[in-house]
Amino acid sequence: MRDNNWLCIICGNQKKSIFYKEKRMPRNKISPGEAVCTGEIGARGRHGKIWKCDNCGFIYQEPTFSESELNIAYKGGTDEIYFEQFKEREYLFEKCLDRIHKFIKPPGKMLDIGCNAGIFLNVARRLGWKTWGIEPSSWAARVARERFELKVKTGVFETARYKPNSYDVITSWDVLEHFVDPVGVLDKMHKLLKKDGVLVLSTINIKSWFSRLLGPHWPWLIRIHLWYFTPKTFKRMVENSGFKVLWMGQQIRWFSFPYLLTRFTGKNFSWMPAISLPAPTGDIIYLVARKKAK
Ligand SMILES: [Zn+2]
Repeated sequence: MRDNNWLCIICGNQKKSIFYKEKRMPRNKISPGEAVCTGEIGARGRHGKIWKCDNCGFIYQEPTFSESELNIAYKGGTDEIYFEQFKEREYLFEKCLDRIHKFIKPPGKMLDIGCNAGIFLNVARRLGWKTWGIEPSSWAARVARERFELKVKTGVFETARYKPNSYDVITSWDVLEHFVDPVGVLDKMHKLLKKDGVLVLSTINIKSWFSRLLGPHWPWLIRIHLWYFTPKTFKRMVENSGFKVLWMGQQIRWFSFPYLLTRFTGKNFSWMPAISLPAPTGDIIYLVARKKAK
């Protein structure tokens, strides 16, 4: 937990202002259902105080749980409905790999941090990468090992042991906003990459048109999202950790229409034809960066 002397992790400034008030905050512990990728619908619209640094504009949430409580919740998370979007997720990751291949090509060693059930790594391996992953959810890591026969460790990246200078590419999709210490995580990623290695990250963009339109009702304002990046603060944090950003853009997610209806209404729409639609909300930014010598 933080005290009032807490300094902005991007610029070191102490002055901050309230960006969004705390909302529907339960005083209970964080549950595994709240800590999975697709999330409990009931978790939406609940969060602690959200602050904005007066100096650099970085936006972040005051945590409403301890790090150990959070890790227990991540460990226990199961997410069967993640696979309902299997086709759309594979398509998205093929596109992402096309982008990565403009800067670095297989063969080579790739590590995916917070790899979930391994859909990304499975596509990357098919395209020629030697792949490894780490995932805190015991369920997801087991699915990655059993369903895709991937080399995936169950555990938390911060405390996992890896050899420095050993990967050509490190990826981490929609994970940075979950770490209690994202700067420490970026430093560790820097150490594990080989010379000139490539880092690929995605995160939510609080400056997207969709976020500005919905304001405090933006669905990504949830307890487990501790950091809310804009393209500017995202780039600055990554560059502060010894990387050169090579490319930054938005990731357009595809959704199956019946899946979306089911998620938002709680009713079953699986009888509908499986039409996929793009969601150009601009909510996800991703970047490709290269390791610089420190
Ligand atoms: Zn700042």
